[in-house]
Order: sequence, then structure tokens, then C-alpha cells
Amino acid sequence: MTTTNDPTAQTLERIGAKTPEAVAEKFAEVRRRFDKEATDSSDRERLQAFVLRWTGRKAGVLTQITDNWLKPATPELKRVVGQELNKLKAHVETTLEEKRKEIETASEQTVTARDKIDLSLPGIERAFGTRHLIRQTFEELQRIFTAIGFSVVEGPEIETPYYNFEALNIPEHHPARDNMDTFYIEGARSSYLLRTHTSPMQIRTMEKEKPPVRIVVPGKVYRRDNPDATHGYMFHQIEGLAVDTDITFCDFKGTVDYFAREFLGPKTKTRLRPSYFPFTEPSAEVDATCHVCGGKGCRVCKFSGWIELFGAGMVNPAVYGFVKYDPERLSGFAFGMGVDRLAMMKYGVTEVPLLFQNDVRFLQQFP
Ligand SMILES: [Zn+2]
Repeated sequence: MTTTNDPTAQTLERIGAKTPEAVAEKFAEVRRRFDKEATDSSDRERLQAFVLRWTGRKAGVLTQITDNWLKPATPELKRVVGQELNKLKAHVETTLEEKRKEIETASEQTVTARDKIDLSLPGIERAFGTRHLIRQTFEELQRIFTAIGFSVVEGPEIETPYYNFEALNIPEHHPARDNMDTFYIEGARSSYLLRTHTSPMQIRTMEKEKPPVRIVVPGKVYRRDNPDATHGYMFHQIEGLAVDTDITFCDFKGTVDYFAREFLGPKTKTRLRPSYFPFTEPSAEVDATCHVCGGKGCRVCKFSGWIELFGAGMVNPAVYGFVKYDPERLSGFAFGMGVDRLAMMKYGVTEVPLLFQNDVRFLQQFP
């Protein structure tokens, strides 16, 4: 839309300035636009586009000003436009440089903040396992008995009816078999079963070893029970057997007293109640004075002052016949303790399932 042939006027018109003096104002306008865009280019991507828009060699704003405003200008106008253009270029350069640094620092700070280790923060706590309450009780029981000369033996959990029943003086159709609801393997009623007590190891040990015998047998035993708060179909026992030429009932009672004091405290007293087991004669239930109230009566001992510890007795001479021991010359005693029950009683656990759920919060109460 050229209205004049004057080249200076033509250039001024292209620039949009009425007079040469107004050229500076046009450049100031351009500069304000640049500054505004600079403020908006706050990240790496936007800055890249911004740089290209202004300094791009072909279509950048600076190139366009050079091509359209400077190059065609008359010599006297060129001086003004050139001067303004140089100022603008310098401003663009410094601003872009600052902008680059600004963005770099910001991203460095982000990285640093992300990677920085705050030493004042509490560390990640690694959960330590504890020895299971049953394992601890086993170890305690074994310590008590090995201290007086017993040794620890272990045996198979899959047994034959001979070792589990017959050799322990429980013949077929003996009512004692009914008390021990047995898991038989694959319905093979005559061949294998899951041991219902740790007593088979009495027989296996006496078969192999000559007297004197002093053993404890820790292990798992199985009975067909309906699991509830106080019963599971698997529980833990520790069996004891002492056989020698001169073991008397006094030795038996002395050992029971020693155990009760070691396990429940030095003031513990015991009493024996007559009982019946096929493999001991006489048989007894061993009670101890309550470890909580000391015998006065409390909720734990059901206000009787006594708690039931385990069943025991002098080895029935009939058992010696199965292992070719001489019942005339030898005597001994045996006991079978329910380890779960002892642990629950001593540590105040009321529910059997807690022992088998492996809940760390429960187990950590017994470090
Ligand atoms: Zn009590």
C-alpha cells in the first residue's frame, strides 16, 4: 500500500512509523512483546520454541526485521534502524542467556531436592523376626532336662501302630485308642499313622540302647480334633523317659519338683493325682501351685490354687517286655508334656490359633 515514491517514507511505512524518530518507539514495542514472551517461557520446551521464534535463521523475528526493515532502508534510515536492531539483538541475547541459566538452575534444584538425603528423618525399620513362642518353650524345656543329664532325641512323625500303640501297652480294641482319634495314612489302617504322642520314641530308643536311658523327645503330634480355642489337630509334646536299675518313685517326684521350680519359679510346689495311662503304673497327673497367685486362687487357676502340668508315672513293666528289658532289674519313669499348653499357661496366651497364625505382632511380644 505504497502511497509515495520516497524510499525513506516507504521503509517507514513498512516499519509502521510515521517519522524516523518514531522508529525507536516501534523497536520498543517489539522489545515489550519479546519481554512478555520471555516471561511466559518458563520451561525448557517453551524456551526452545521461544528462541526459535525470535532468533530462527529463516523466519525468526530478528531475521525478518533485518530483511524487511534494515536491508531495504535508505542509508540515513539504516543508521537509526541498525542502531535499534543492534540494541534489540543485544537485549535478546542477554535475556535468552539469563533465561537458559534460570531454567537450568531450576531443574538442578528439582533433581537435588529429589536426591537429597535428609539425615534427620527416621530410618526405615526392618522388622526382625523372633523365635516362635513354641520354639522358645521347647528350648527352655530341653535346657531344664539336659541340665540334669537327659539327652534330646527326635523321631518320625509317621509311625506304625506297633510303636504308637502296641509296644506302649495299648493293644488293638484297647479303650485308650479311642481317646486318641488317630489320623491313618491313606486308610491303611494296619500300616501307618500320624503319631498321636511322642511316646513311640520311648520304644525306639529302648530297642536300640541298653539302660540307663535318660531322654527327652520334643516333637509334633496329631489327633483328629475339631480345632477351637484350646484344640488343634496338631500340637507339640515333649516326652521324657528315665530307666535304670535303681530308679524309684522318689526320683520321679524329685524330677517333677525340680522341673516345676525351674519352669514356673523357685517357690512352686507340686502334687500328684492318681491317673491312668496304659504305659505307666502307677500313673499320675502332676499339678503345680499357680504361678500367678502362688496358690491363693485366681482366674488363671480357676480359683483352685493349682494348675495342671502334665501326665506321668512309673514305666509299666509290661512295656519292658516289648524292648527286651528285664522288668525285675529295671525301673523308670516317663512323662508327656503338652508344650503348647505349658507355653500358653506360662505366658498367658488364651487362644491356640494365635500360636499358628505367625502374626509378627503376636510373636514380638515374646522376644
Ligand atoms: Zn492362680
